[in-house]
Amino acid sequence: MNGVLVILEAVGDDLAAISRELLGKGRQLADALGGSLAALAIGPTTAVAARAAHFGADQIFTVEAPALSQYTTDGYVAAAMAAVKTFNPALIMAGTSFQMRDFGAALATDLNAGLSVDVTDLKVVDGAIQATRPSHGGNVINTYRFAAGKPVVALVRKQSFPEAAAQPDRSAPVTALAVAELNPRTTVEEVKPKAGAVNLTDAAIIVTGGRGLGNKDNYYRLIPPLAEALGGAYGASRAIVDDGWVPYEHQVGQTGKTVSPKLYIAAGVSGAIQHLAGMRTSRTIVAINKDPEAPIFRIATLGVVGDVNEILPLLTEEIKARLN
Ligand code: FAD
Repeated sequence: MNGVLVILEAVGDDLAAISRELLGKGRQLADALGGSLAALAIGPTTAVAARAAHFGADQIFTVEAPALSQYTTDGYVAAAMAAVKTFNPALIMAGTSFQMRDFGAALATDLNAGLSVDVTDLKVVDGAIQATRPSHGGNVINTYRFAAGKPVVALVRKQSFPEAAAQPDRSAPVTALAVAELNPRTTVEEVKPKAGAVNLTDAAIIVTGGRGLGNKDNYYRLIPPLAEALGGAYGASRAIVDDGWVPYEHQVGQTGKTVSPKLYIAAGVSGAIQHLAGMRTSRTIVAINKDPEAPIFRIATLGVVGDVNEILPLLTEEIKARLN
């Protein structure tokens, strides 16, 4: 088996951040396996495929066809199978997006391969792939070790690994693969972007408010301005979503979004287990709460015991002053 194959994703006319993260980790794992790092671009992503070389790919495969202009399970799995047959990877890495969950499960089934979803770490131990992933709302950390000699499909949670540094002078061969029979059983008629959609899961910085904000007006006075000053997105606990302060799209937690940003600020959030389930793998967690016994402090990297009404405006002003 040959090393690592990364399934690329694009955002606009560039590689998605998750692809740069996977290429960075993929490079280390390929070296540990004694193999090479390949990248696969399917459908519209082929436009940015060559960029994968700047982030460590040794070879790049593309599969382009009219039937691949939109995501379908059959189409993308058939395209991936073409690359897998050509490259024979020990590990196939993709992001844990809505579509990639569907794709990864179908690909692993067709390959009779091991699958791990929501992965937060990957290692090579004695030649075998080892994946780490949280479960049970983040209270249990599982380590899976896969038998060597069979491919492994790992869907990685965003922002689990640093992005690979760009090496603009690097290049790699790009090979266009043909798929003989590409007859997806589904066709996509129309894709309608949702108006006002909130992309919390992609945000590198999230500022979340909870019931400690007191009321809806106070939430909007204090939380979005801090998020904006930091260039981040704003989130909410379920308590205040249920109370109608903030739309559901902003909810973080077991029944909301699972996020893993570089910085998560929780203000006036108690840290109920269902909330922690959606954010505890964030890299740095800052909690602001007037109750020193609030459970959120148990997982916080930095804790501030105090009143959100005093601390948030000061913090926002200070950040604006420093960043301008
Ligand atoms: P509270 O628990 O009321 O906490 C408010 C906090 O603010 C307190 O710690 C308080 O000390 C602090 N505070 C008050 N005033 C101030 C002030 N002036 N300054 C600073 N701090 C202050 N919850 C989620 O968030 N996401 C989910 O996805 C989710 N899913 C759930 C699923 C199920 C099946 C169930 C049963 C529950 C779920 N919950 C979820 C709800 C969860 O159990 C909690 O009820 C909820 O997270 C509490 O929200 P909160 O922290 O905003 O409010």
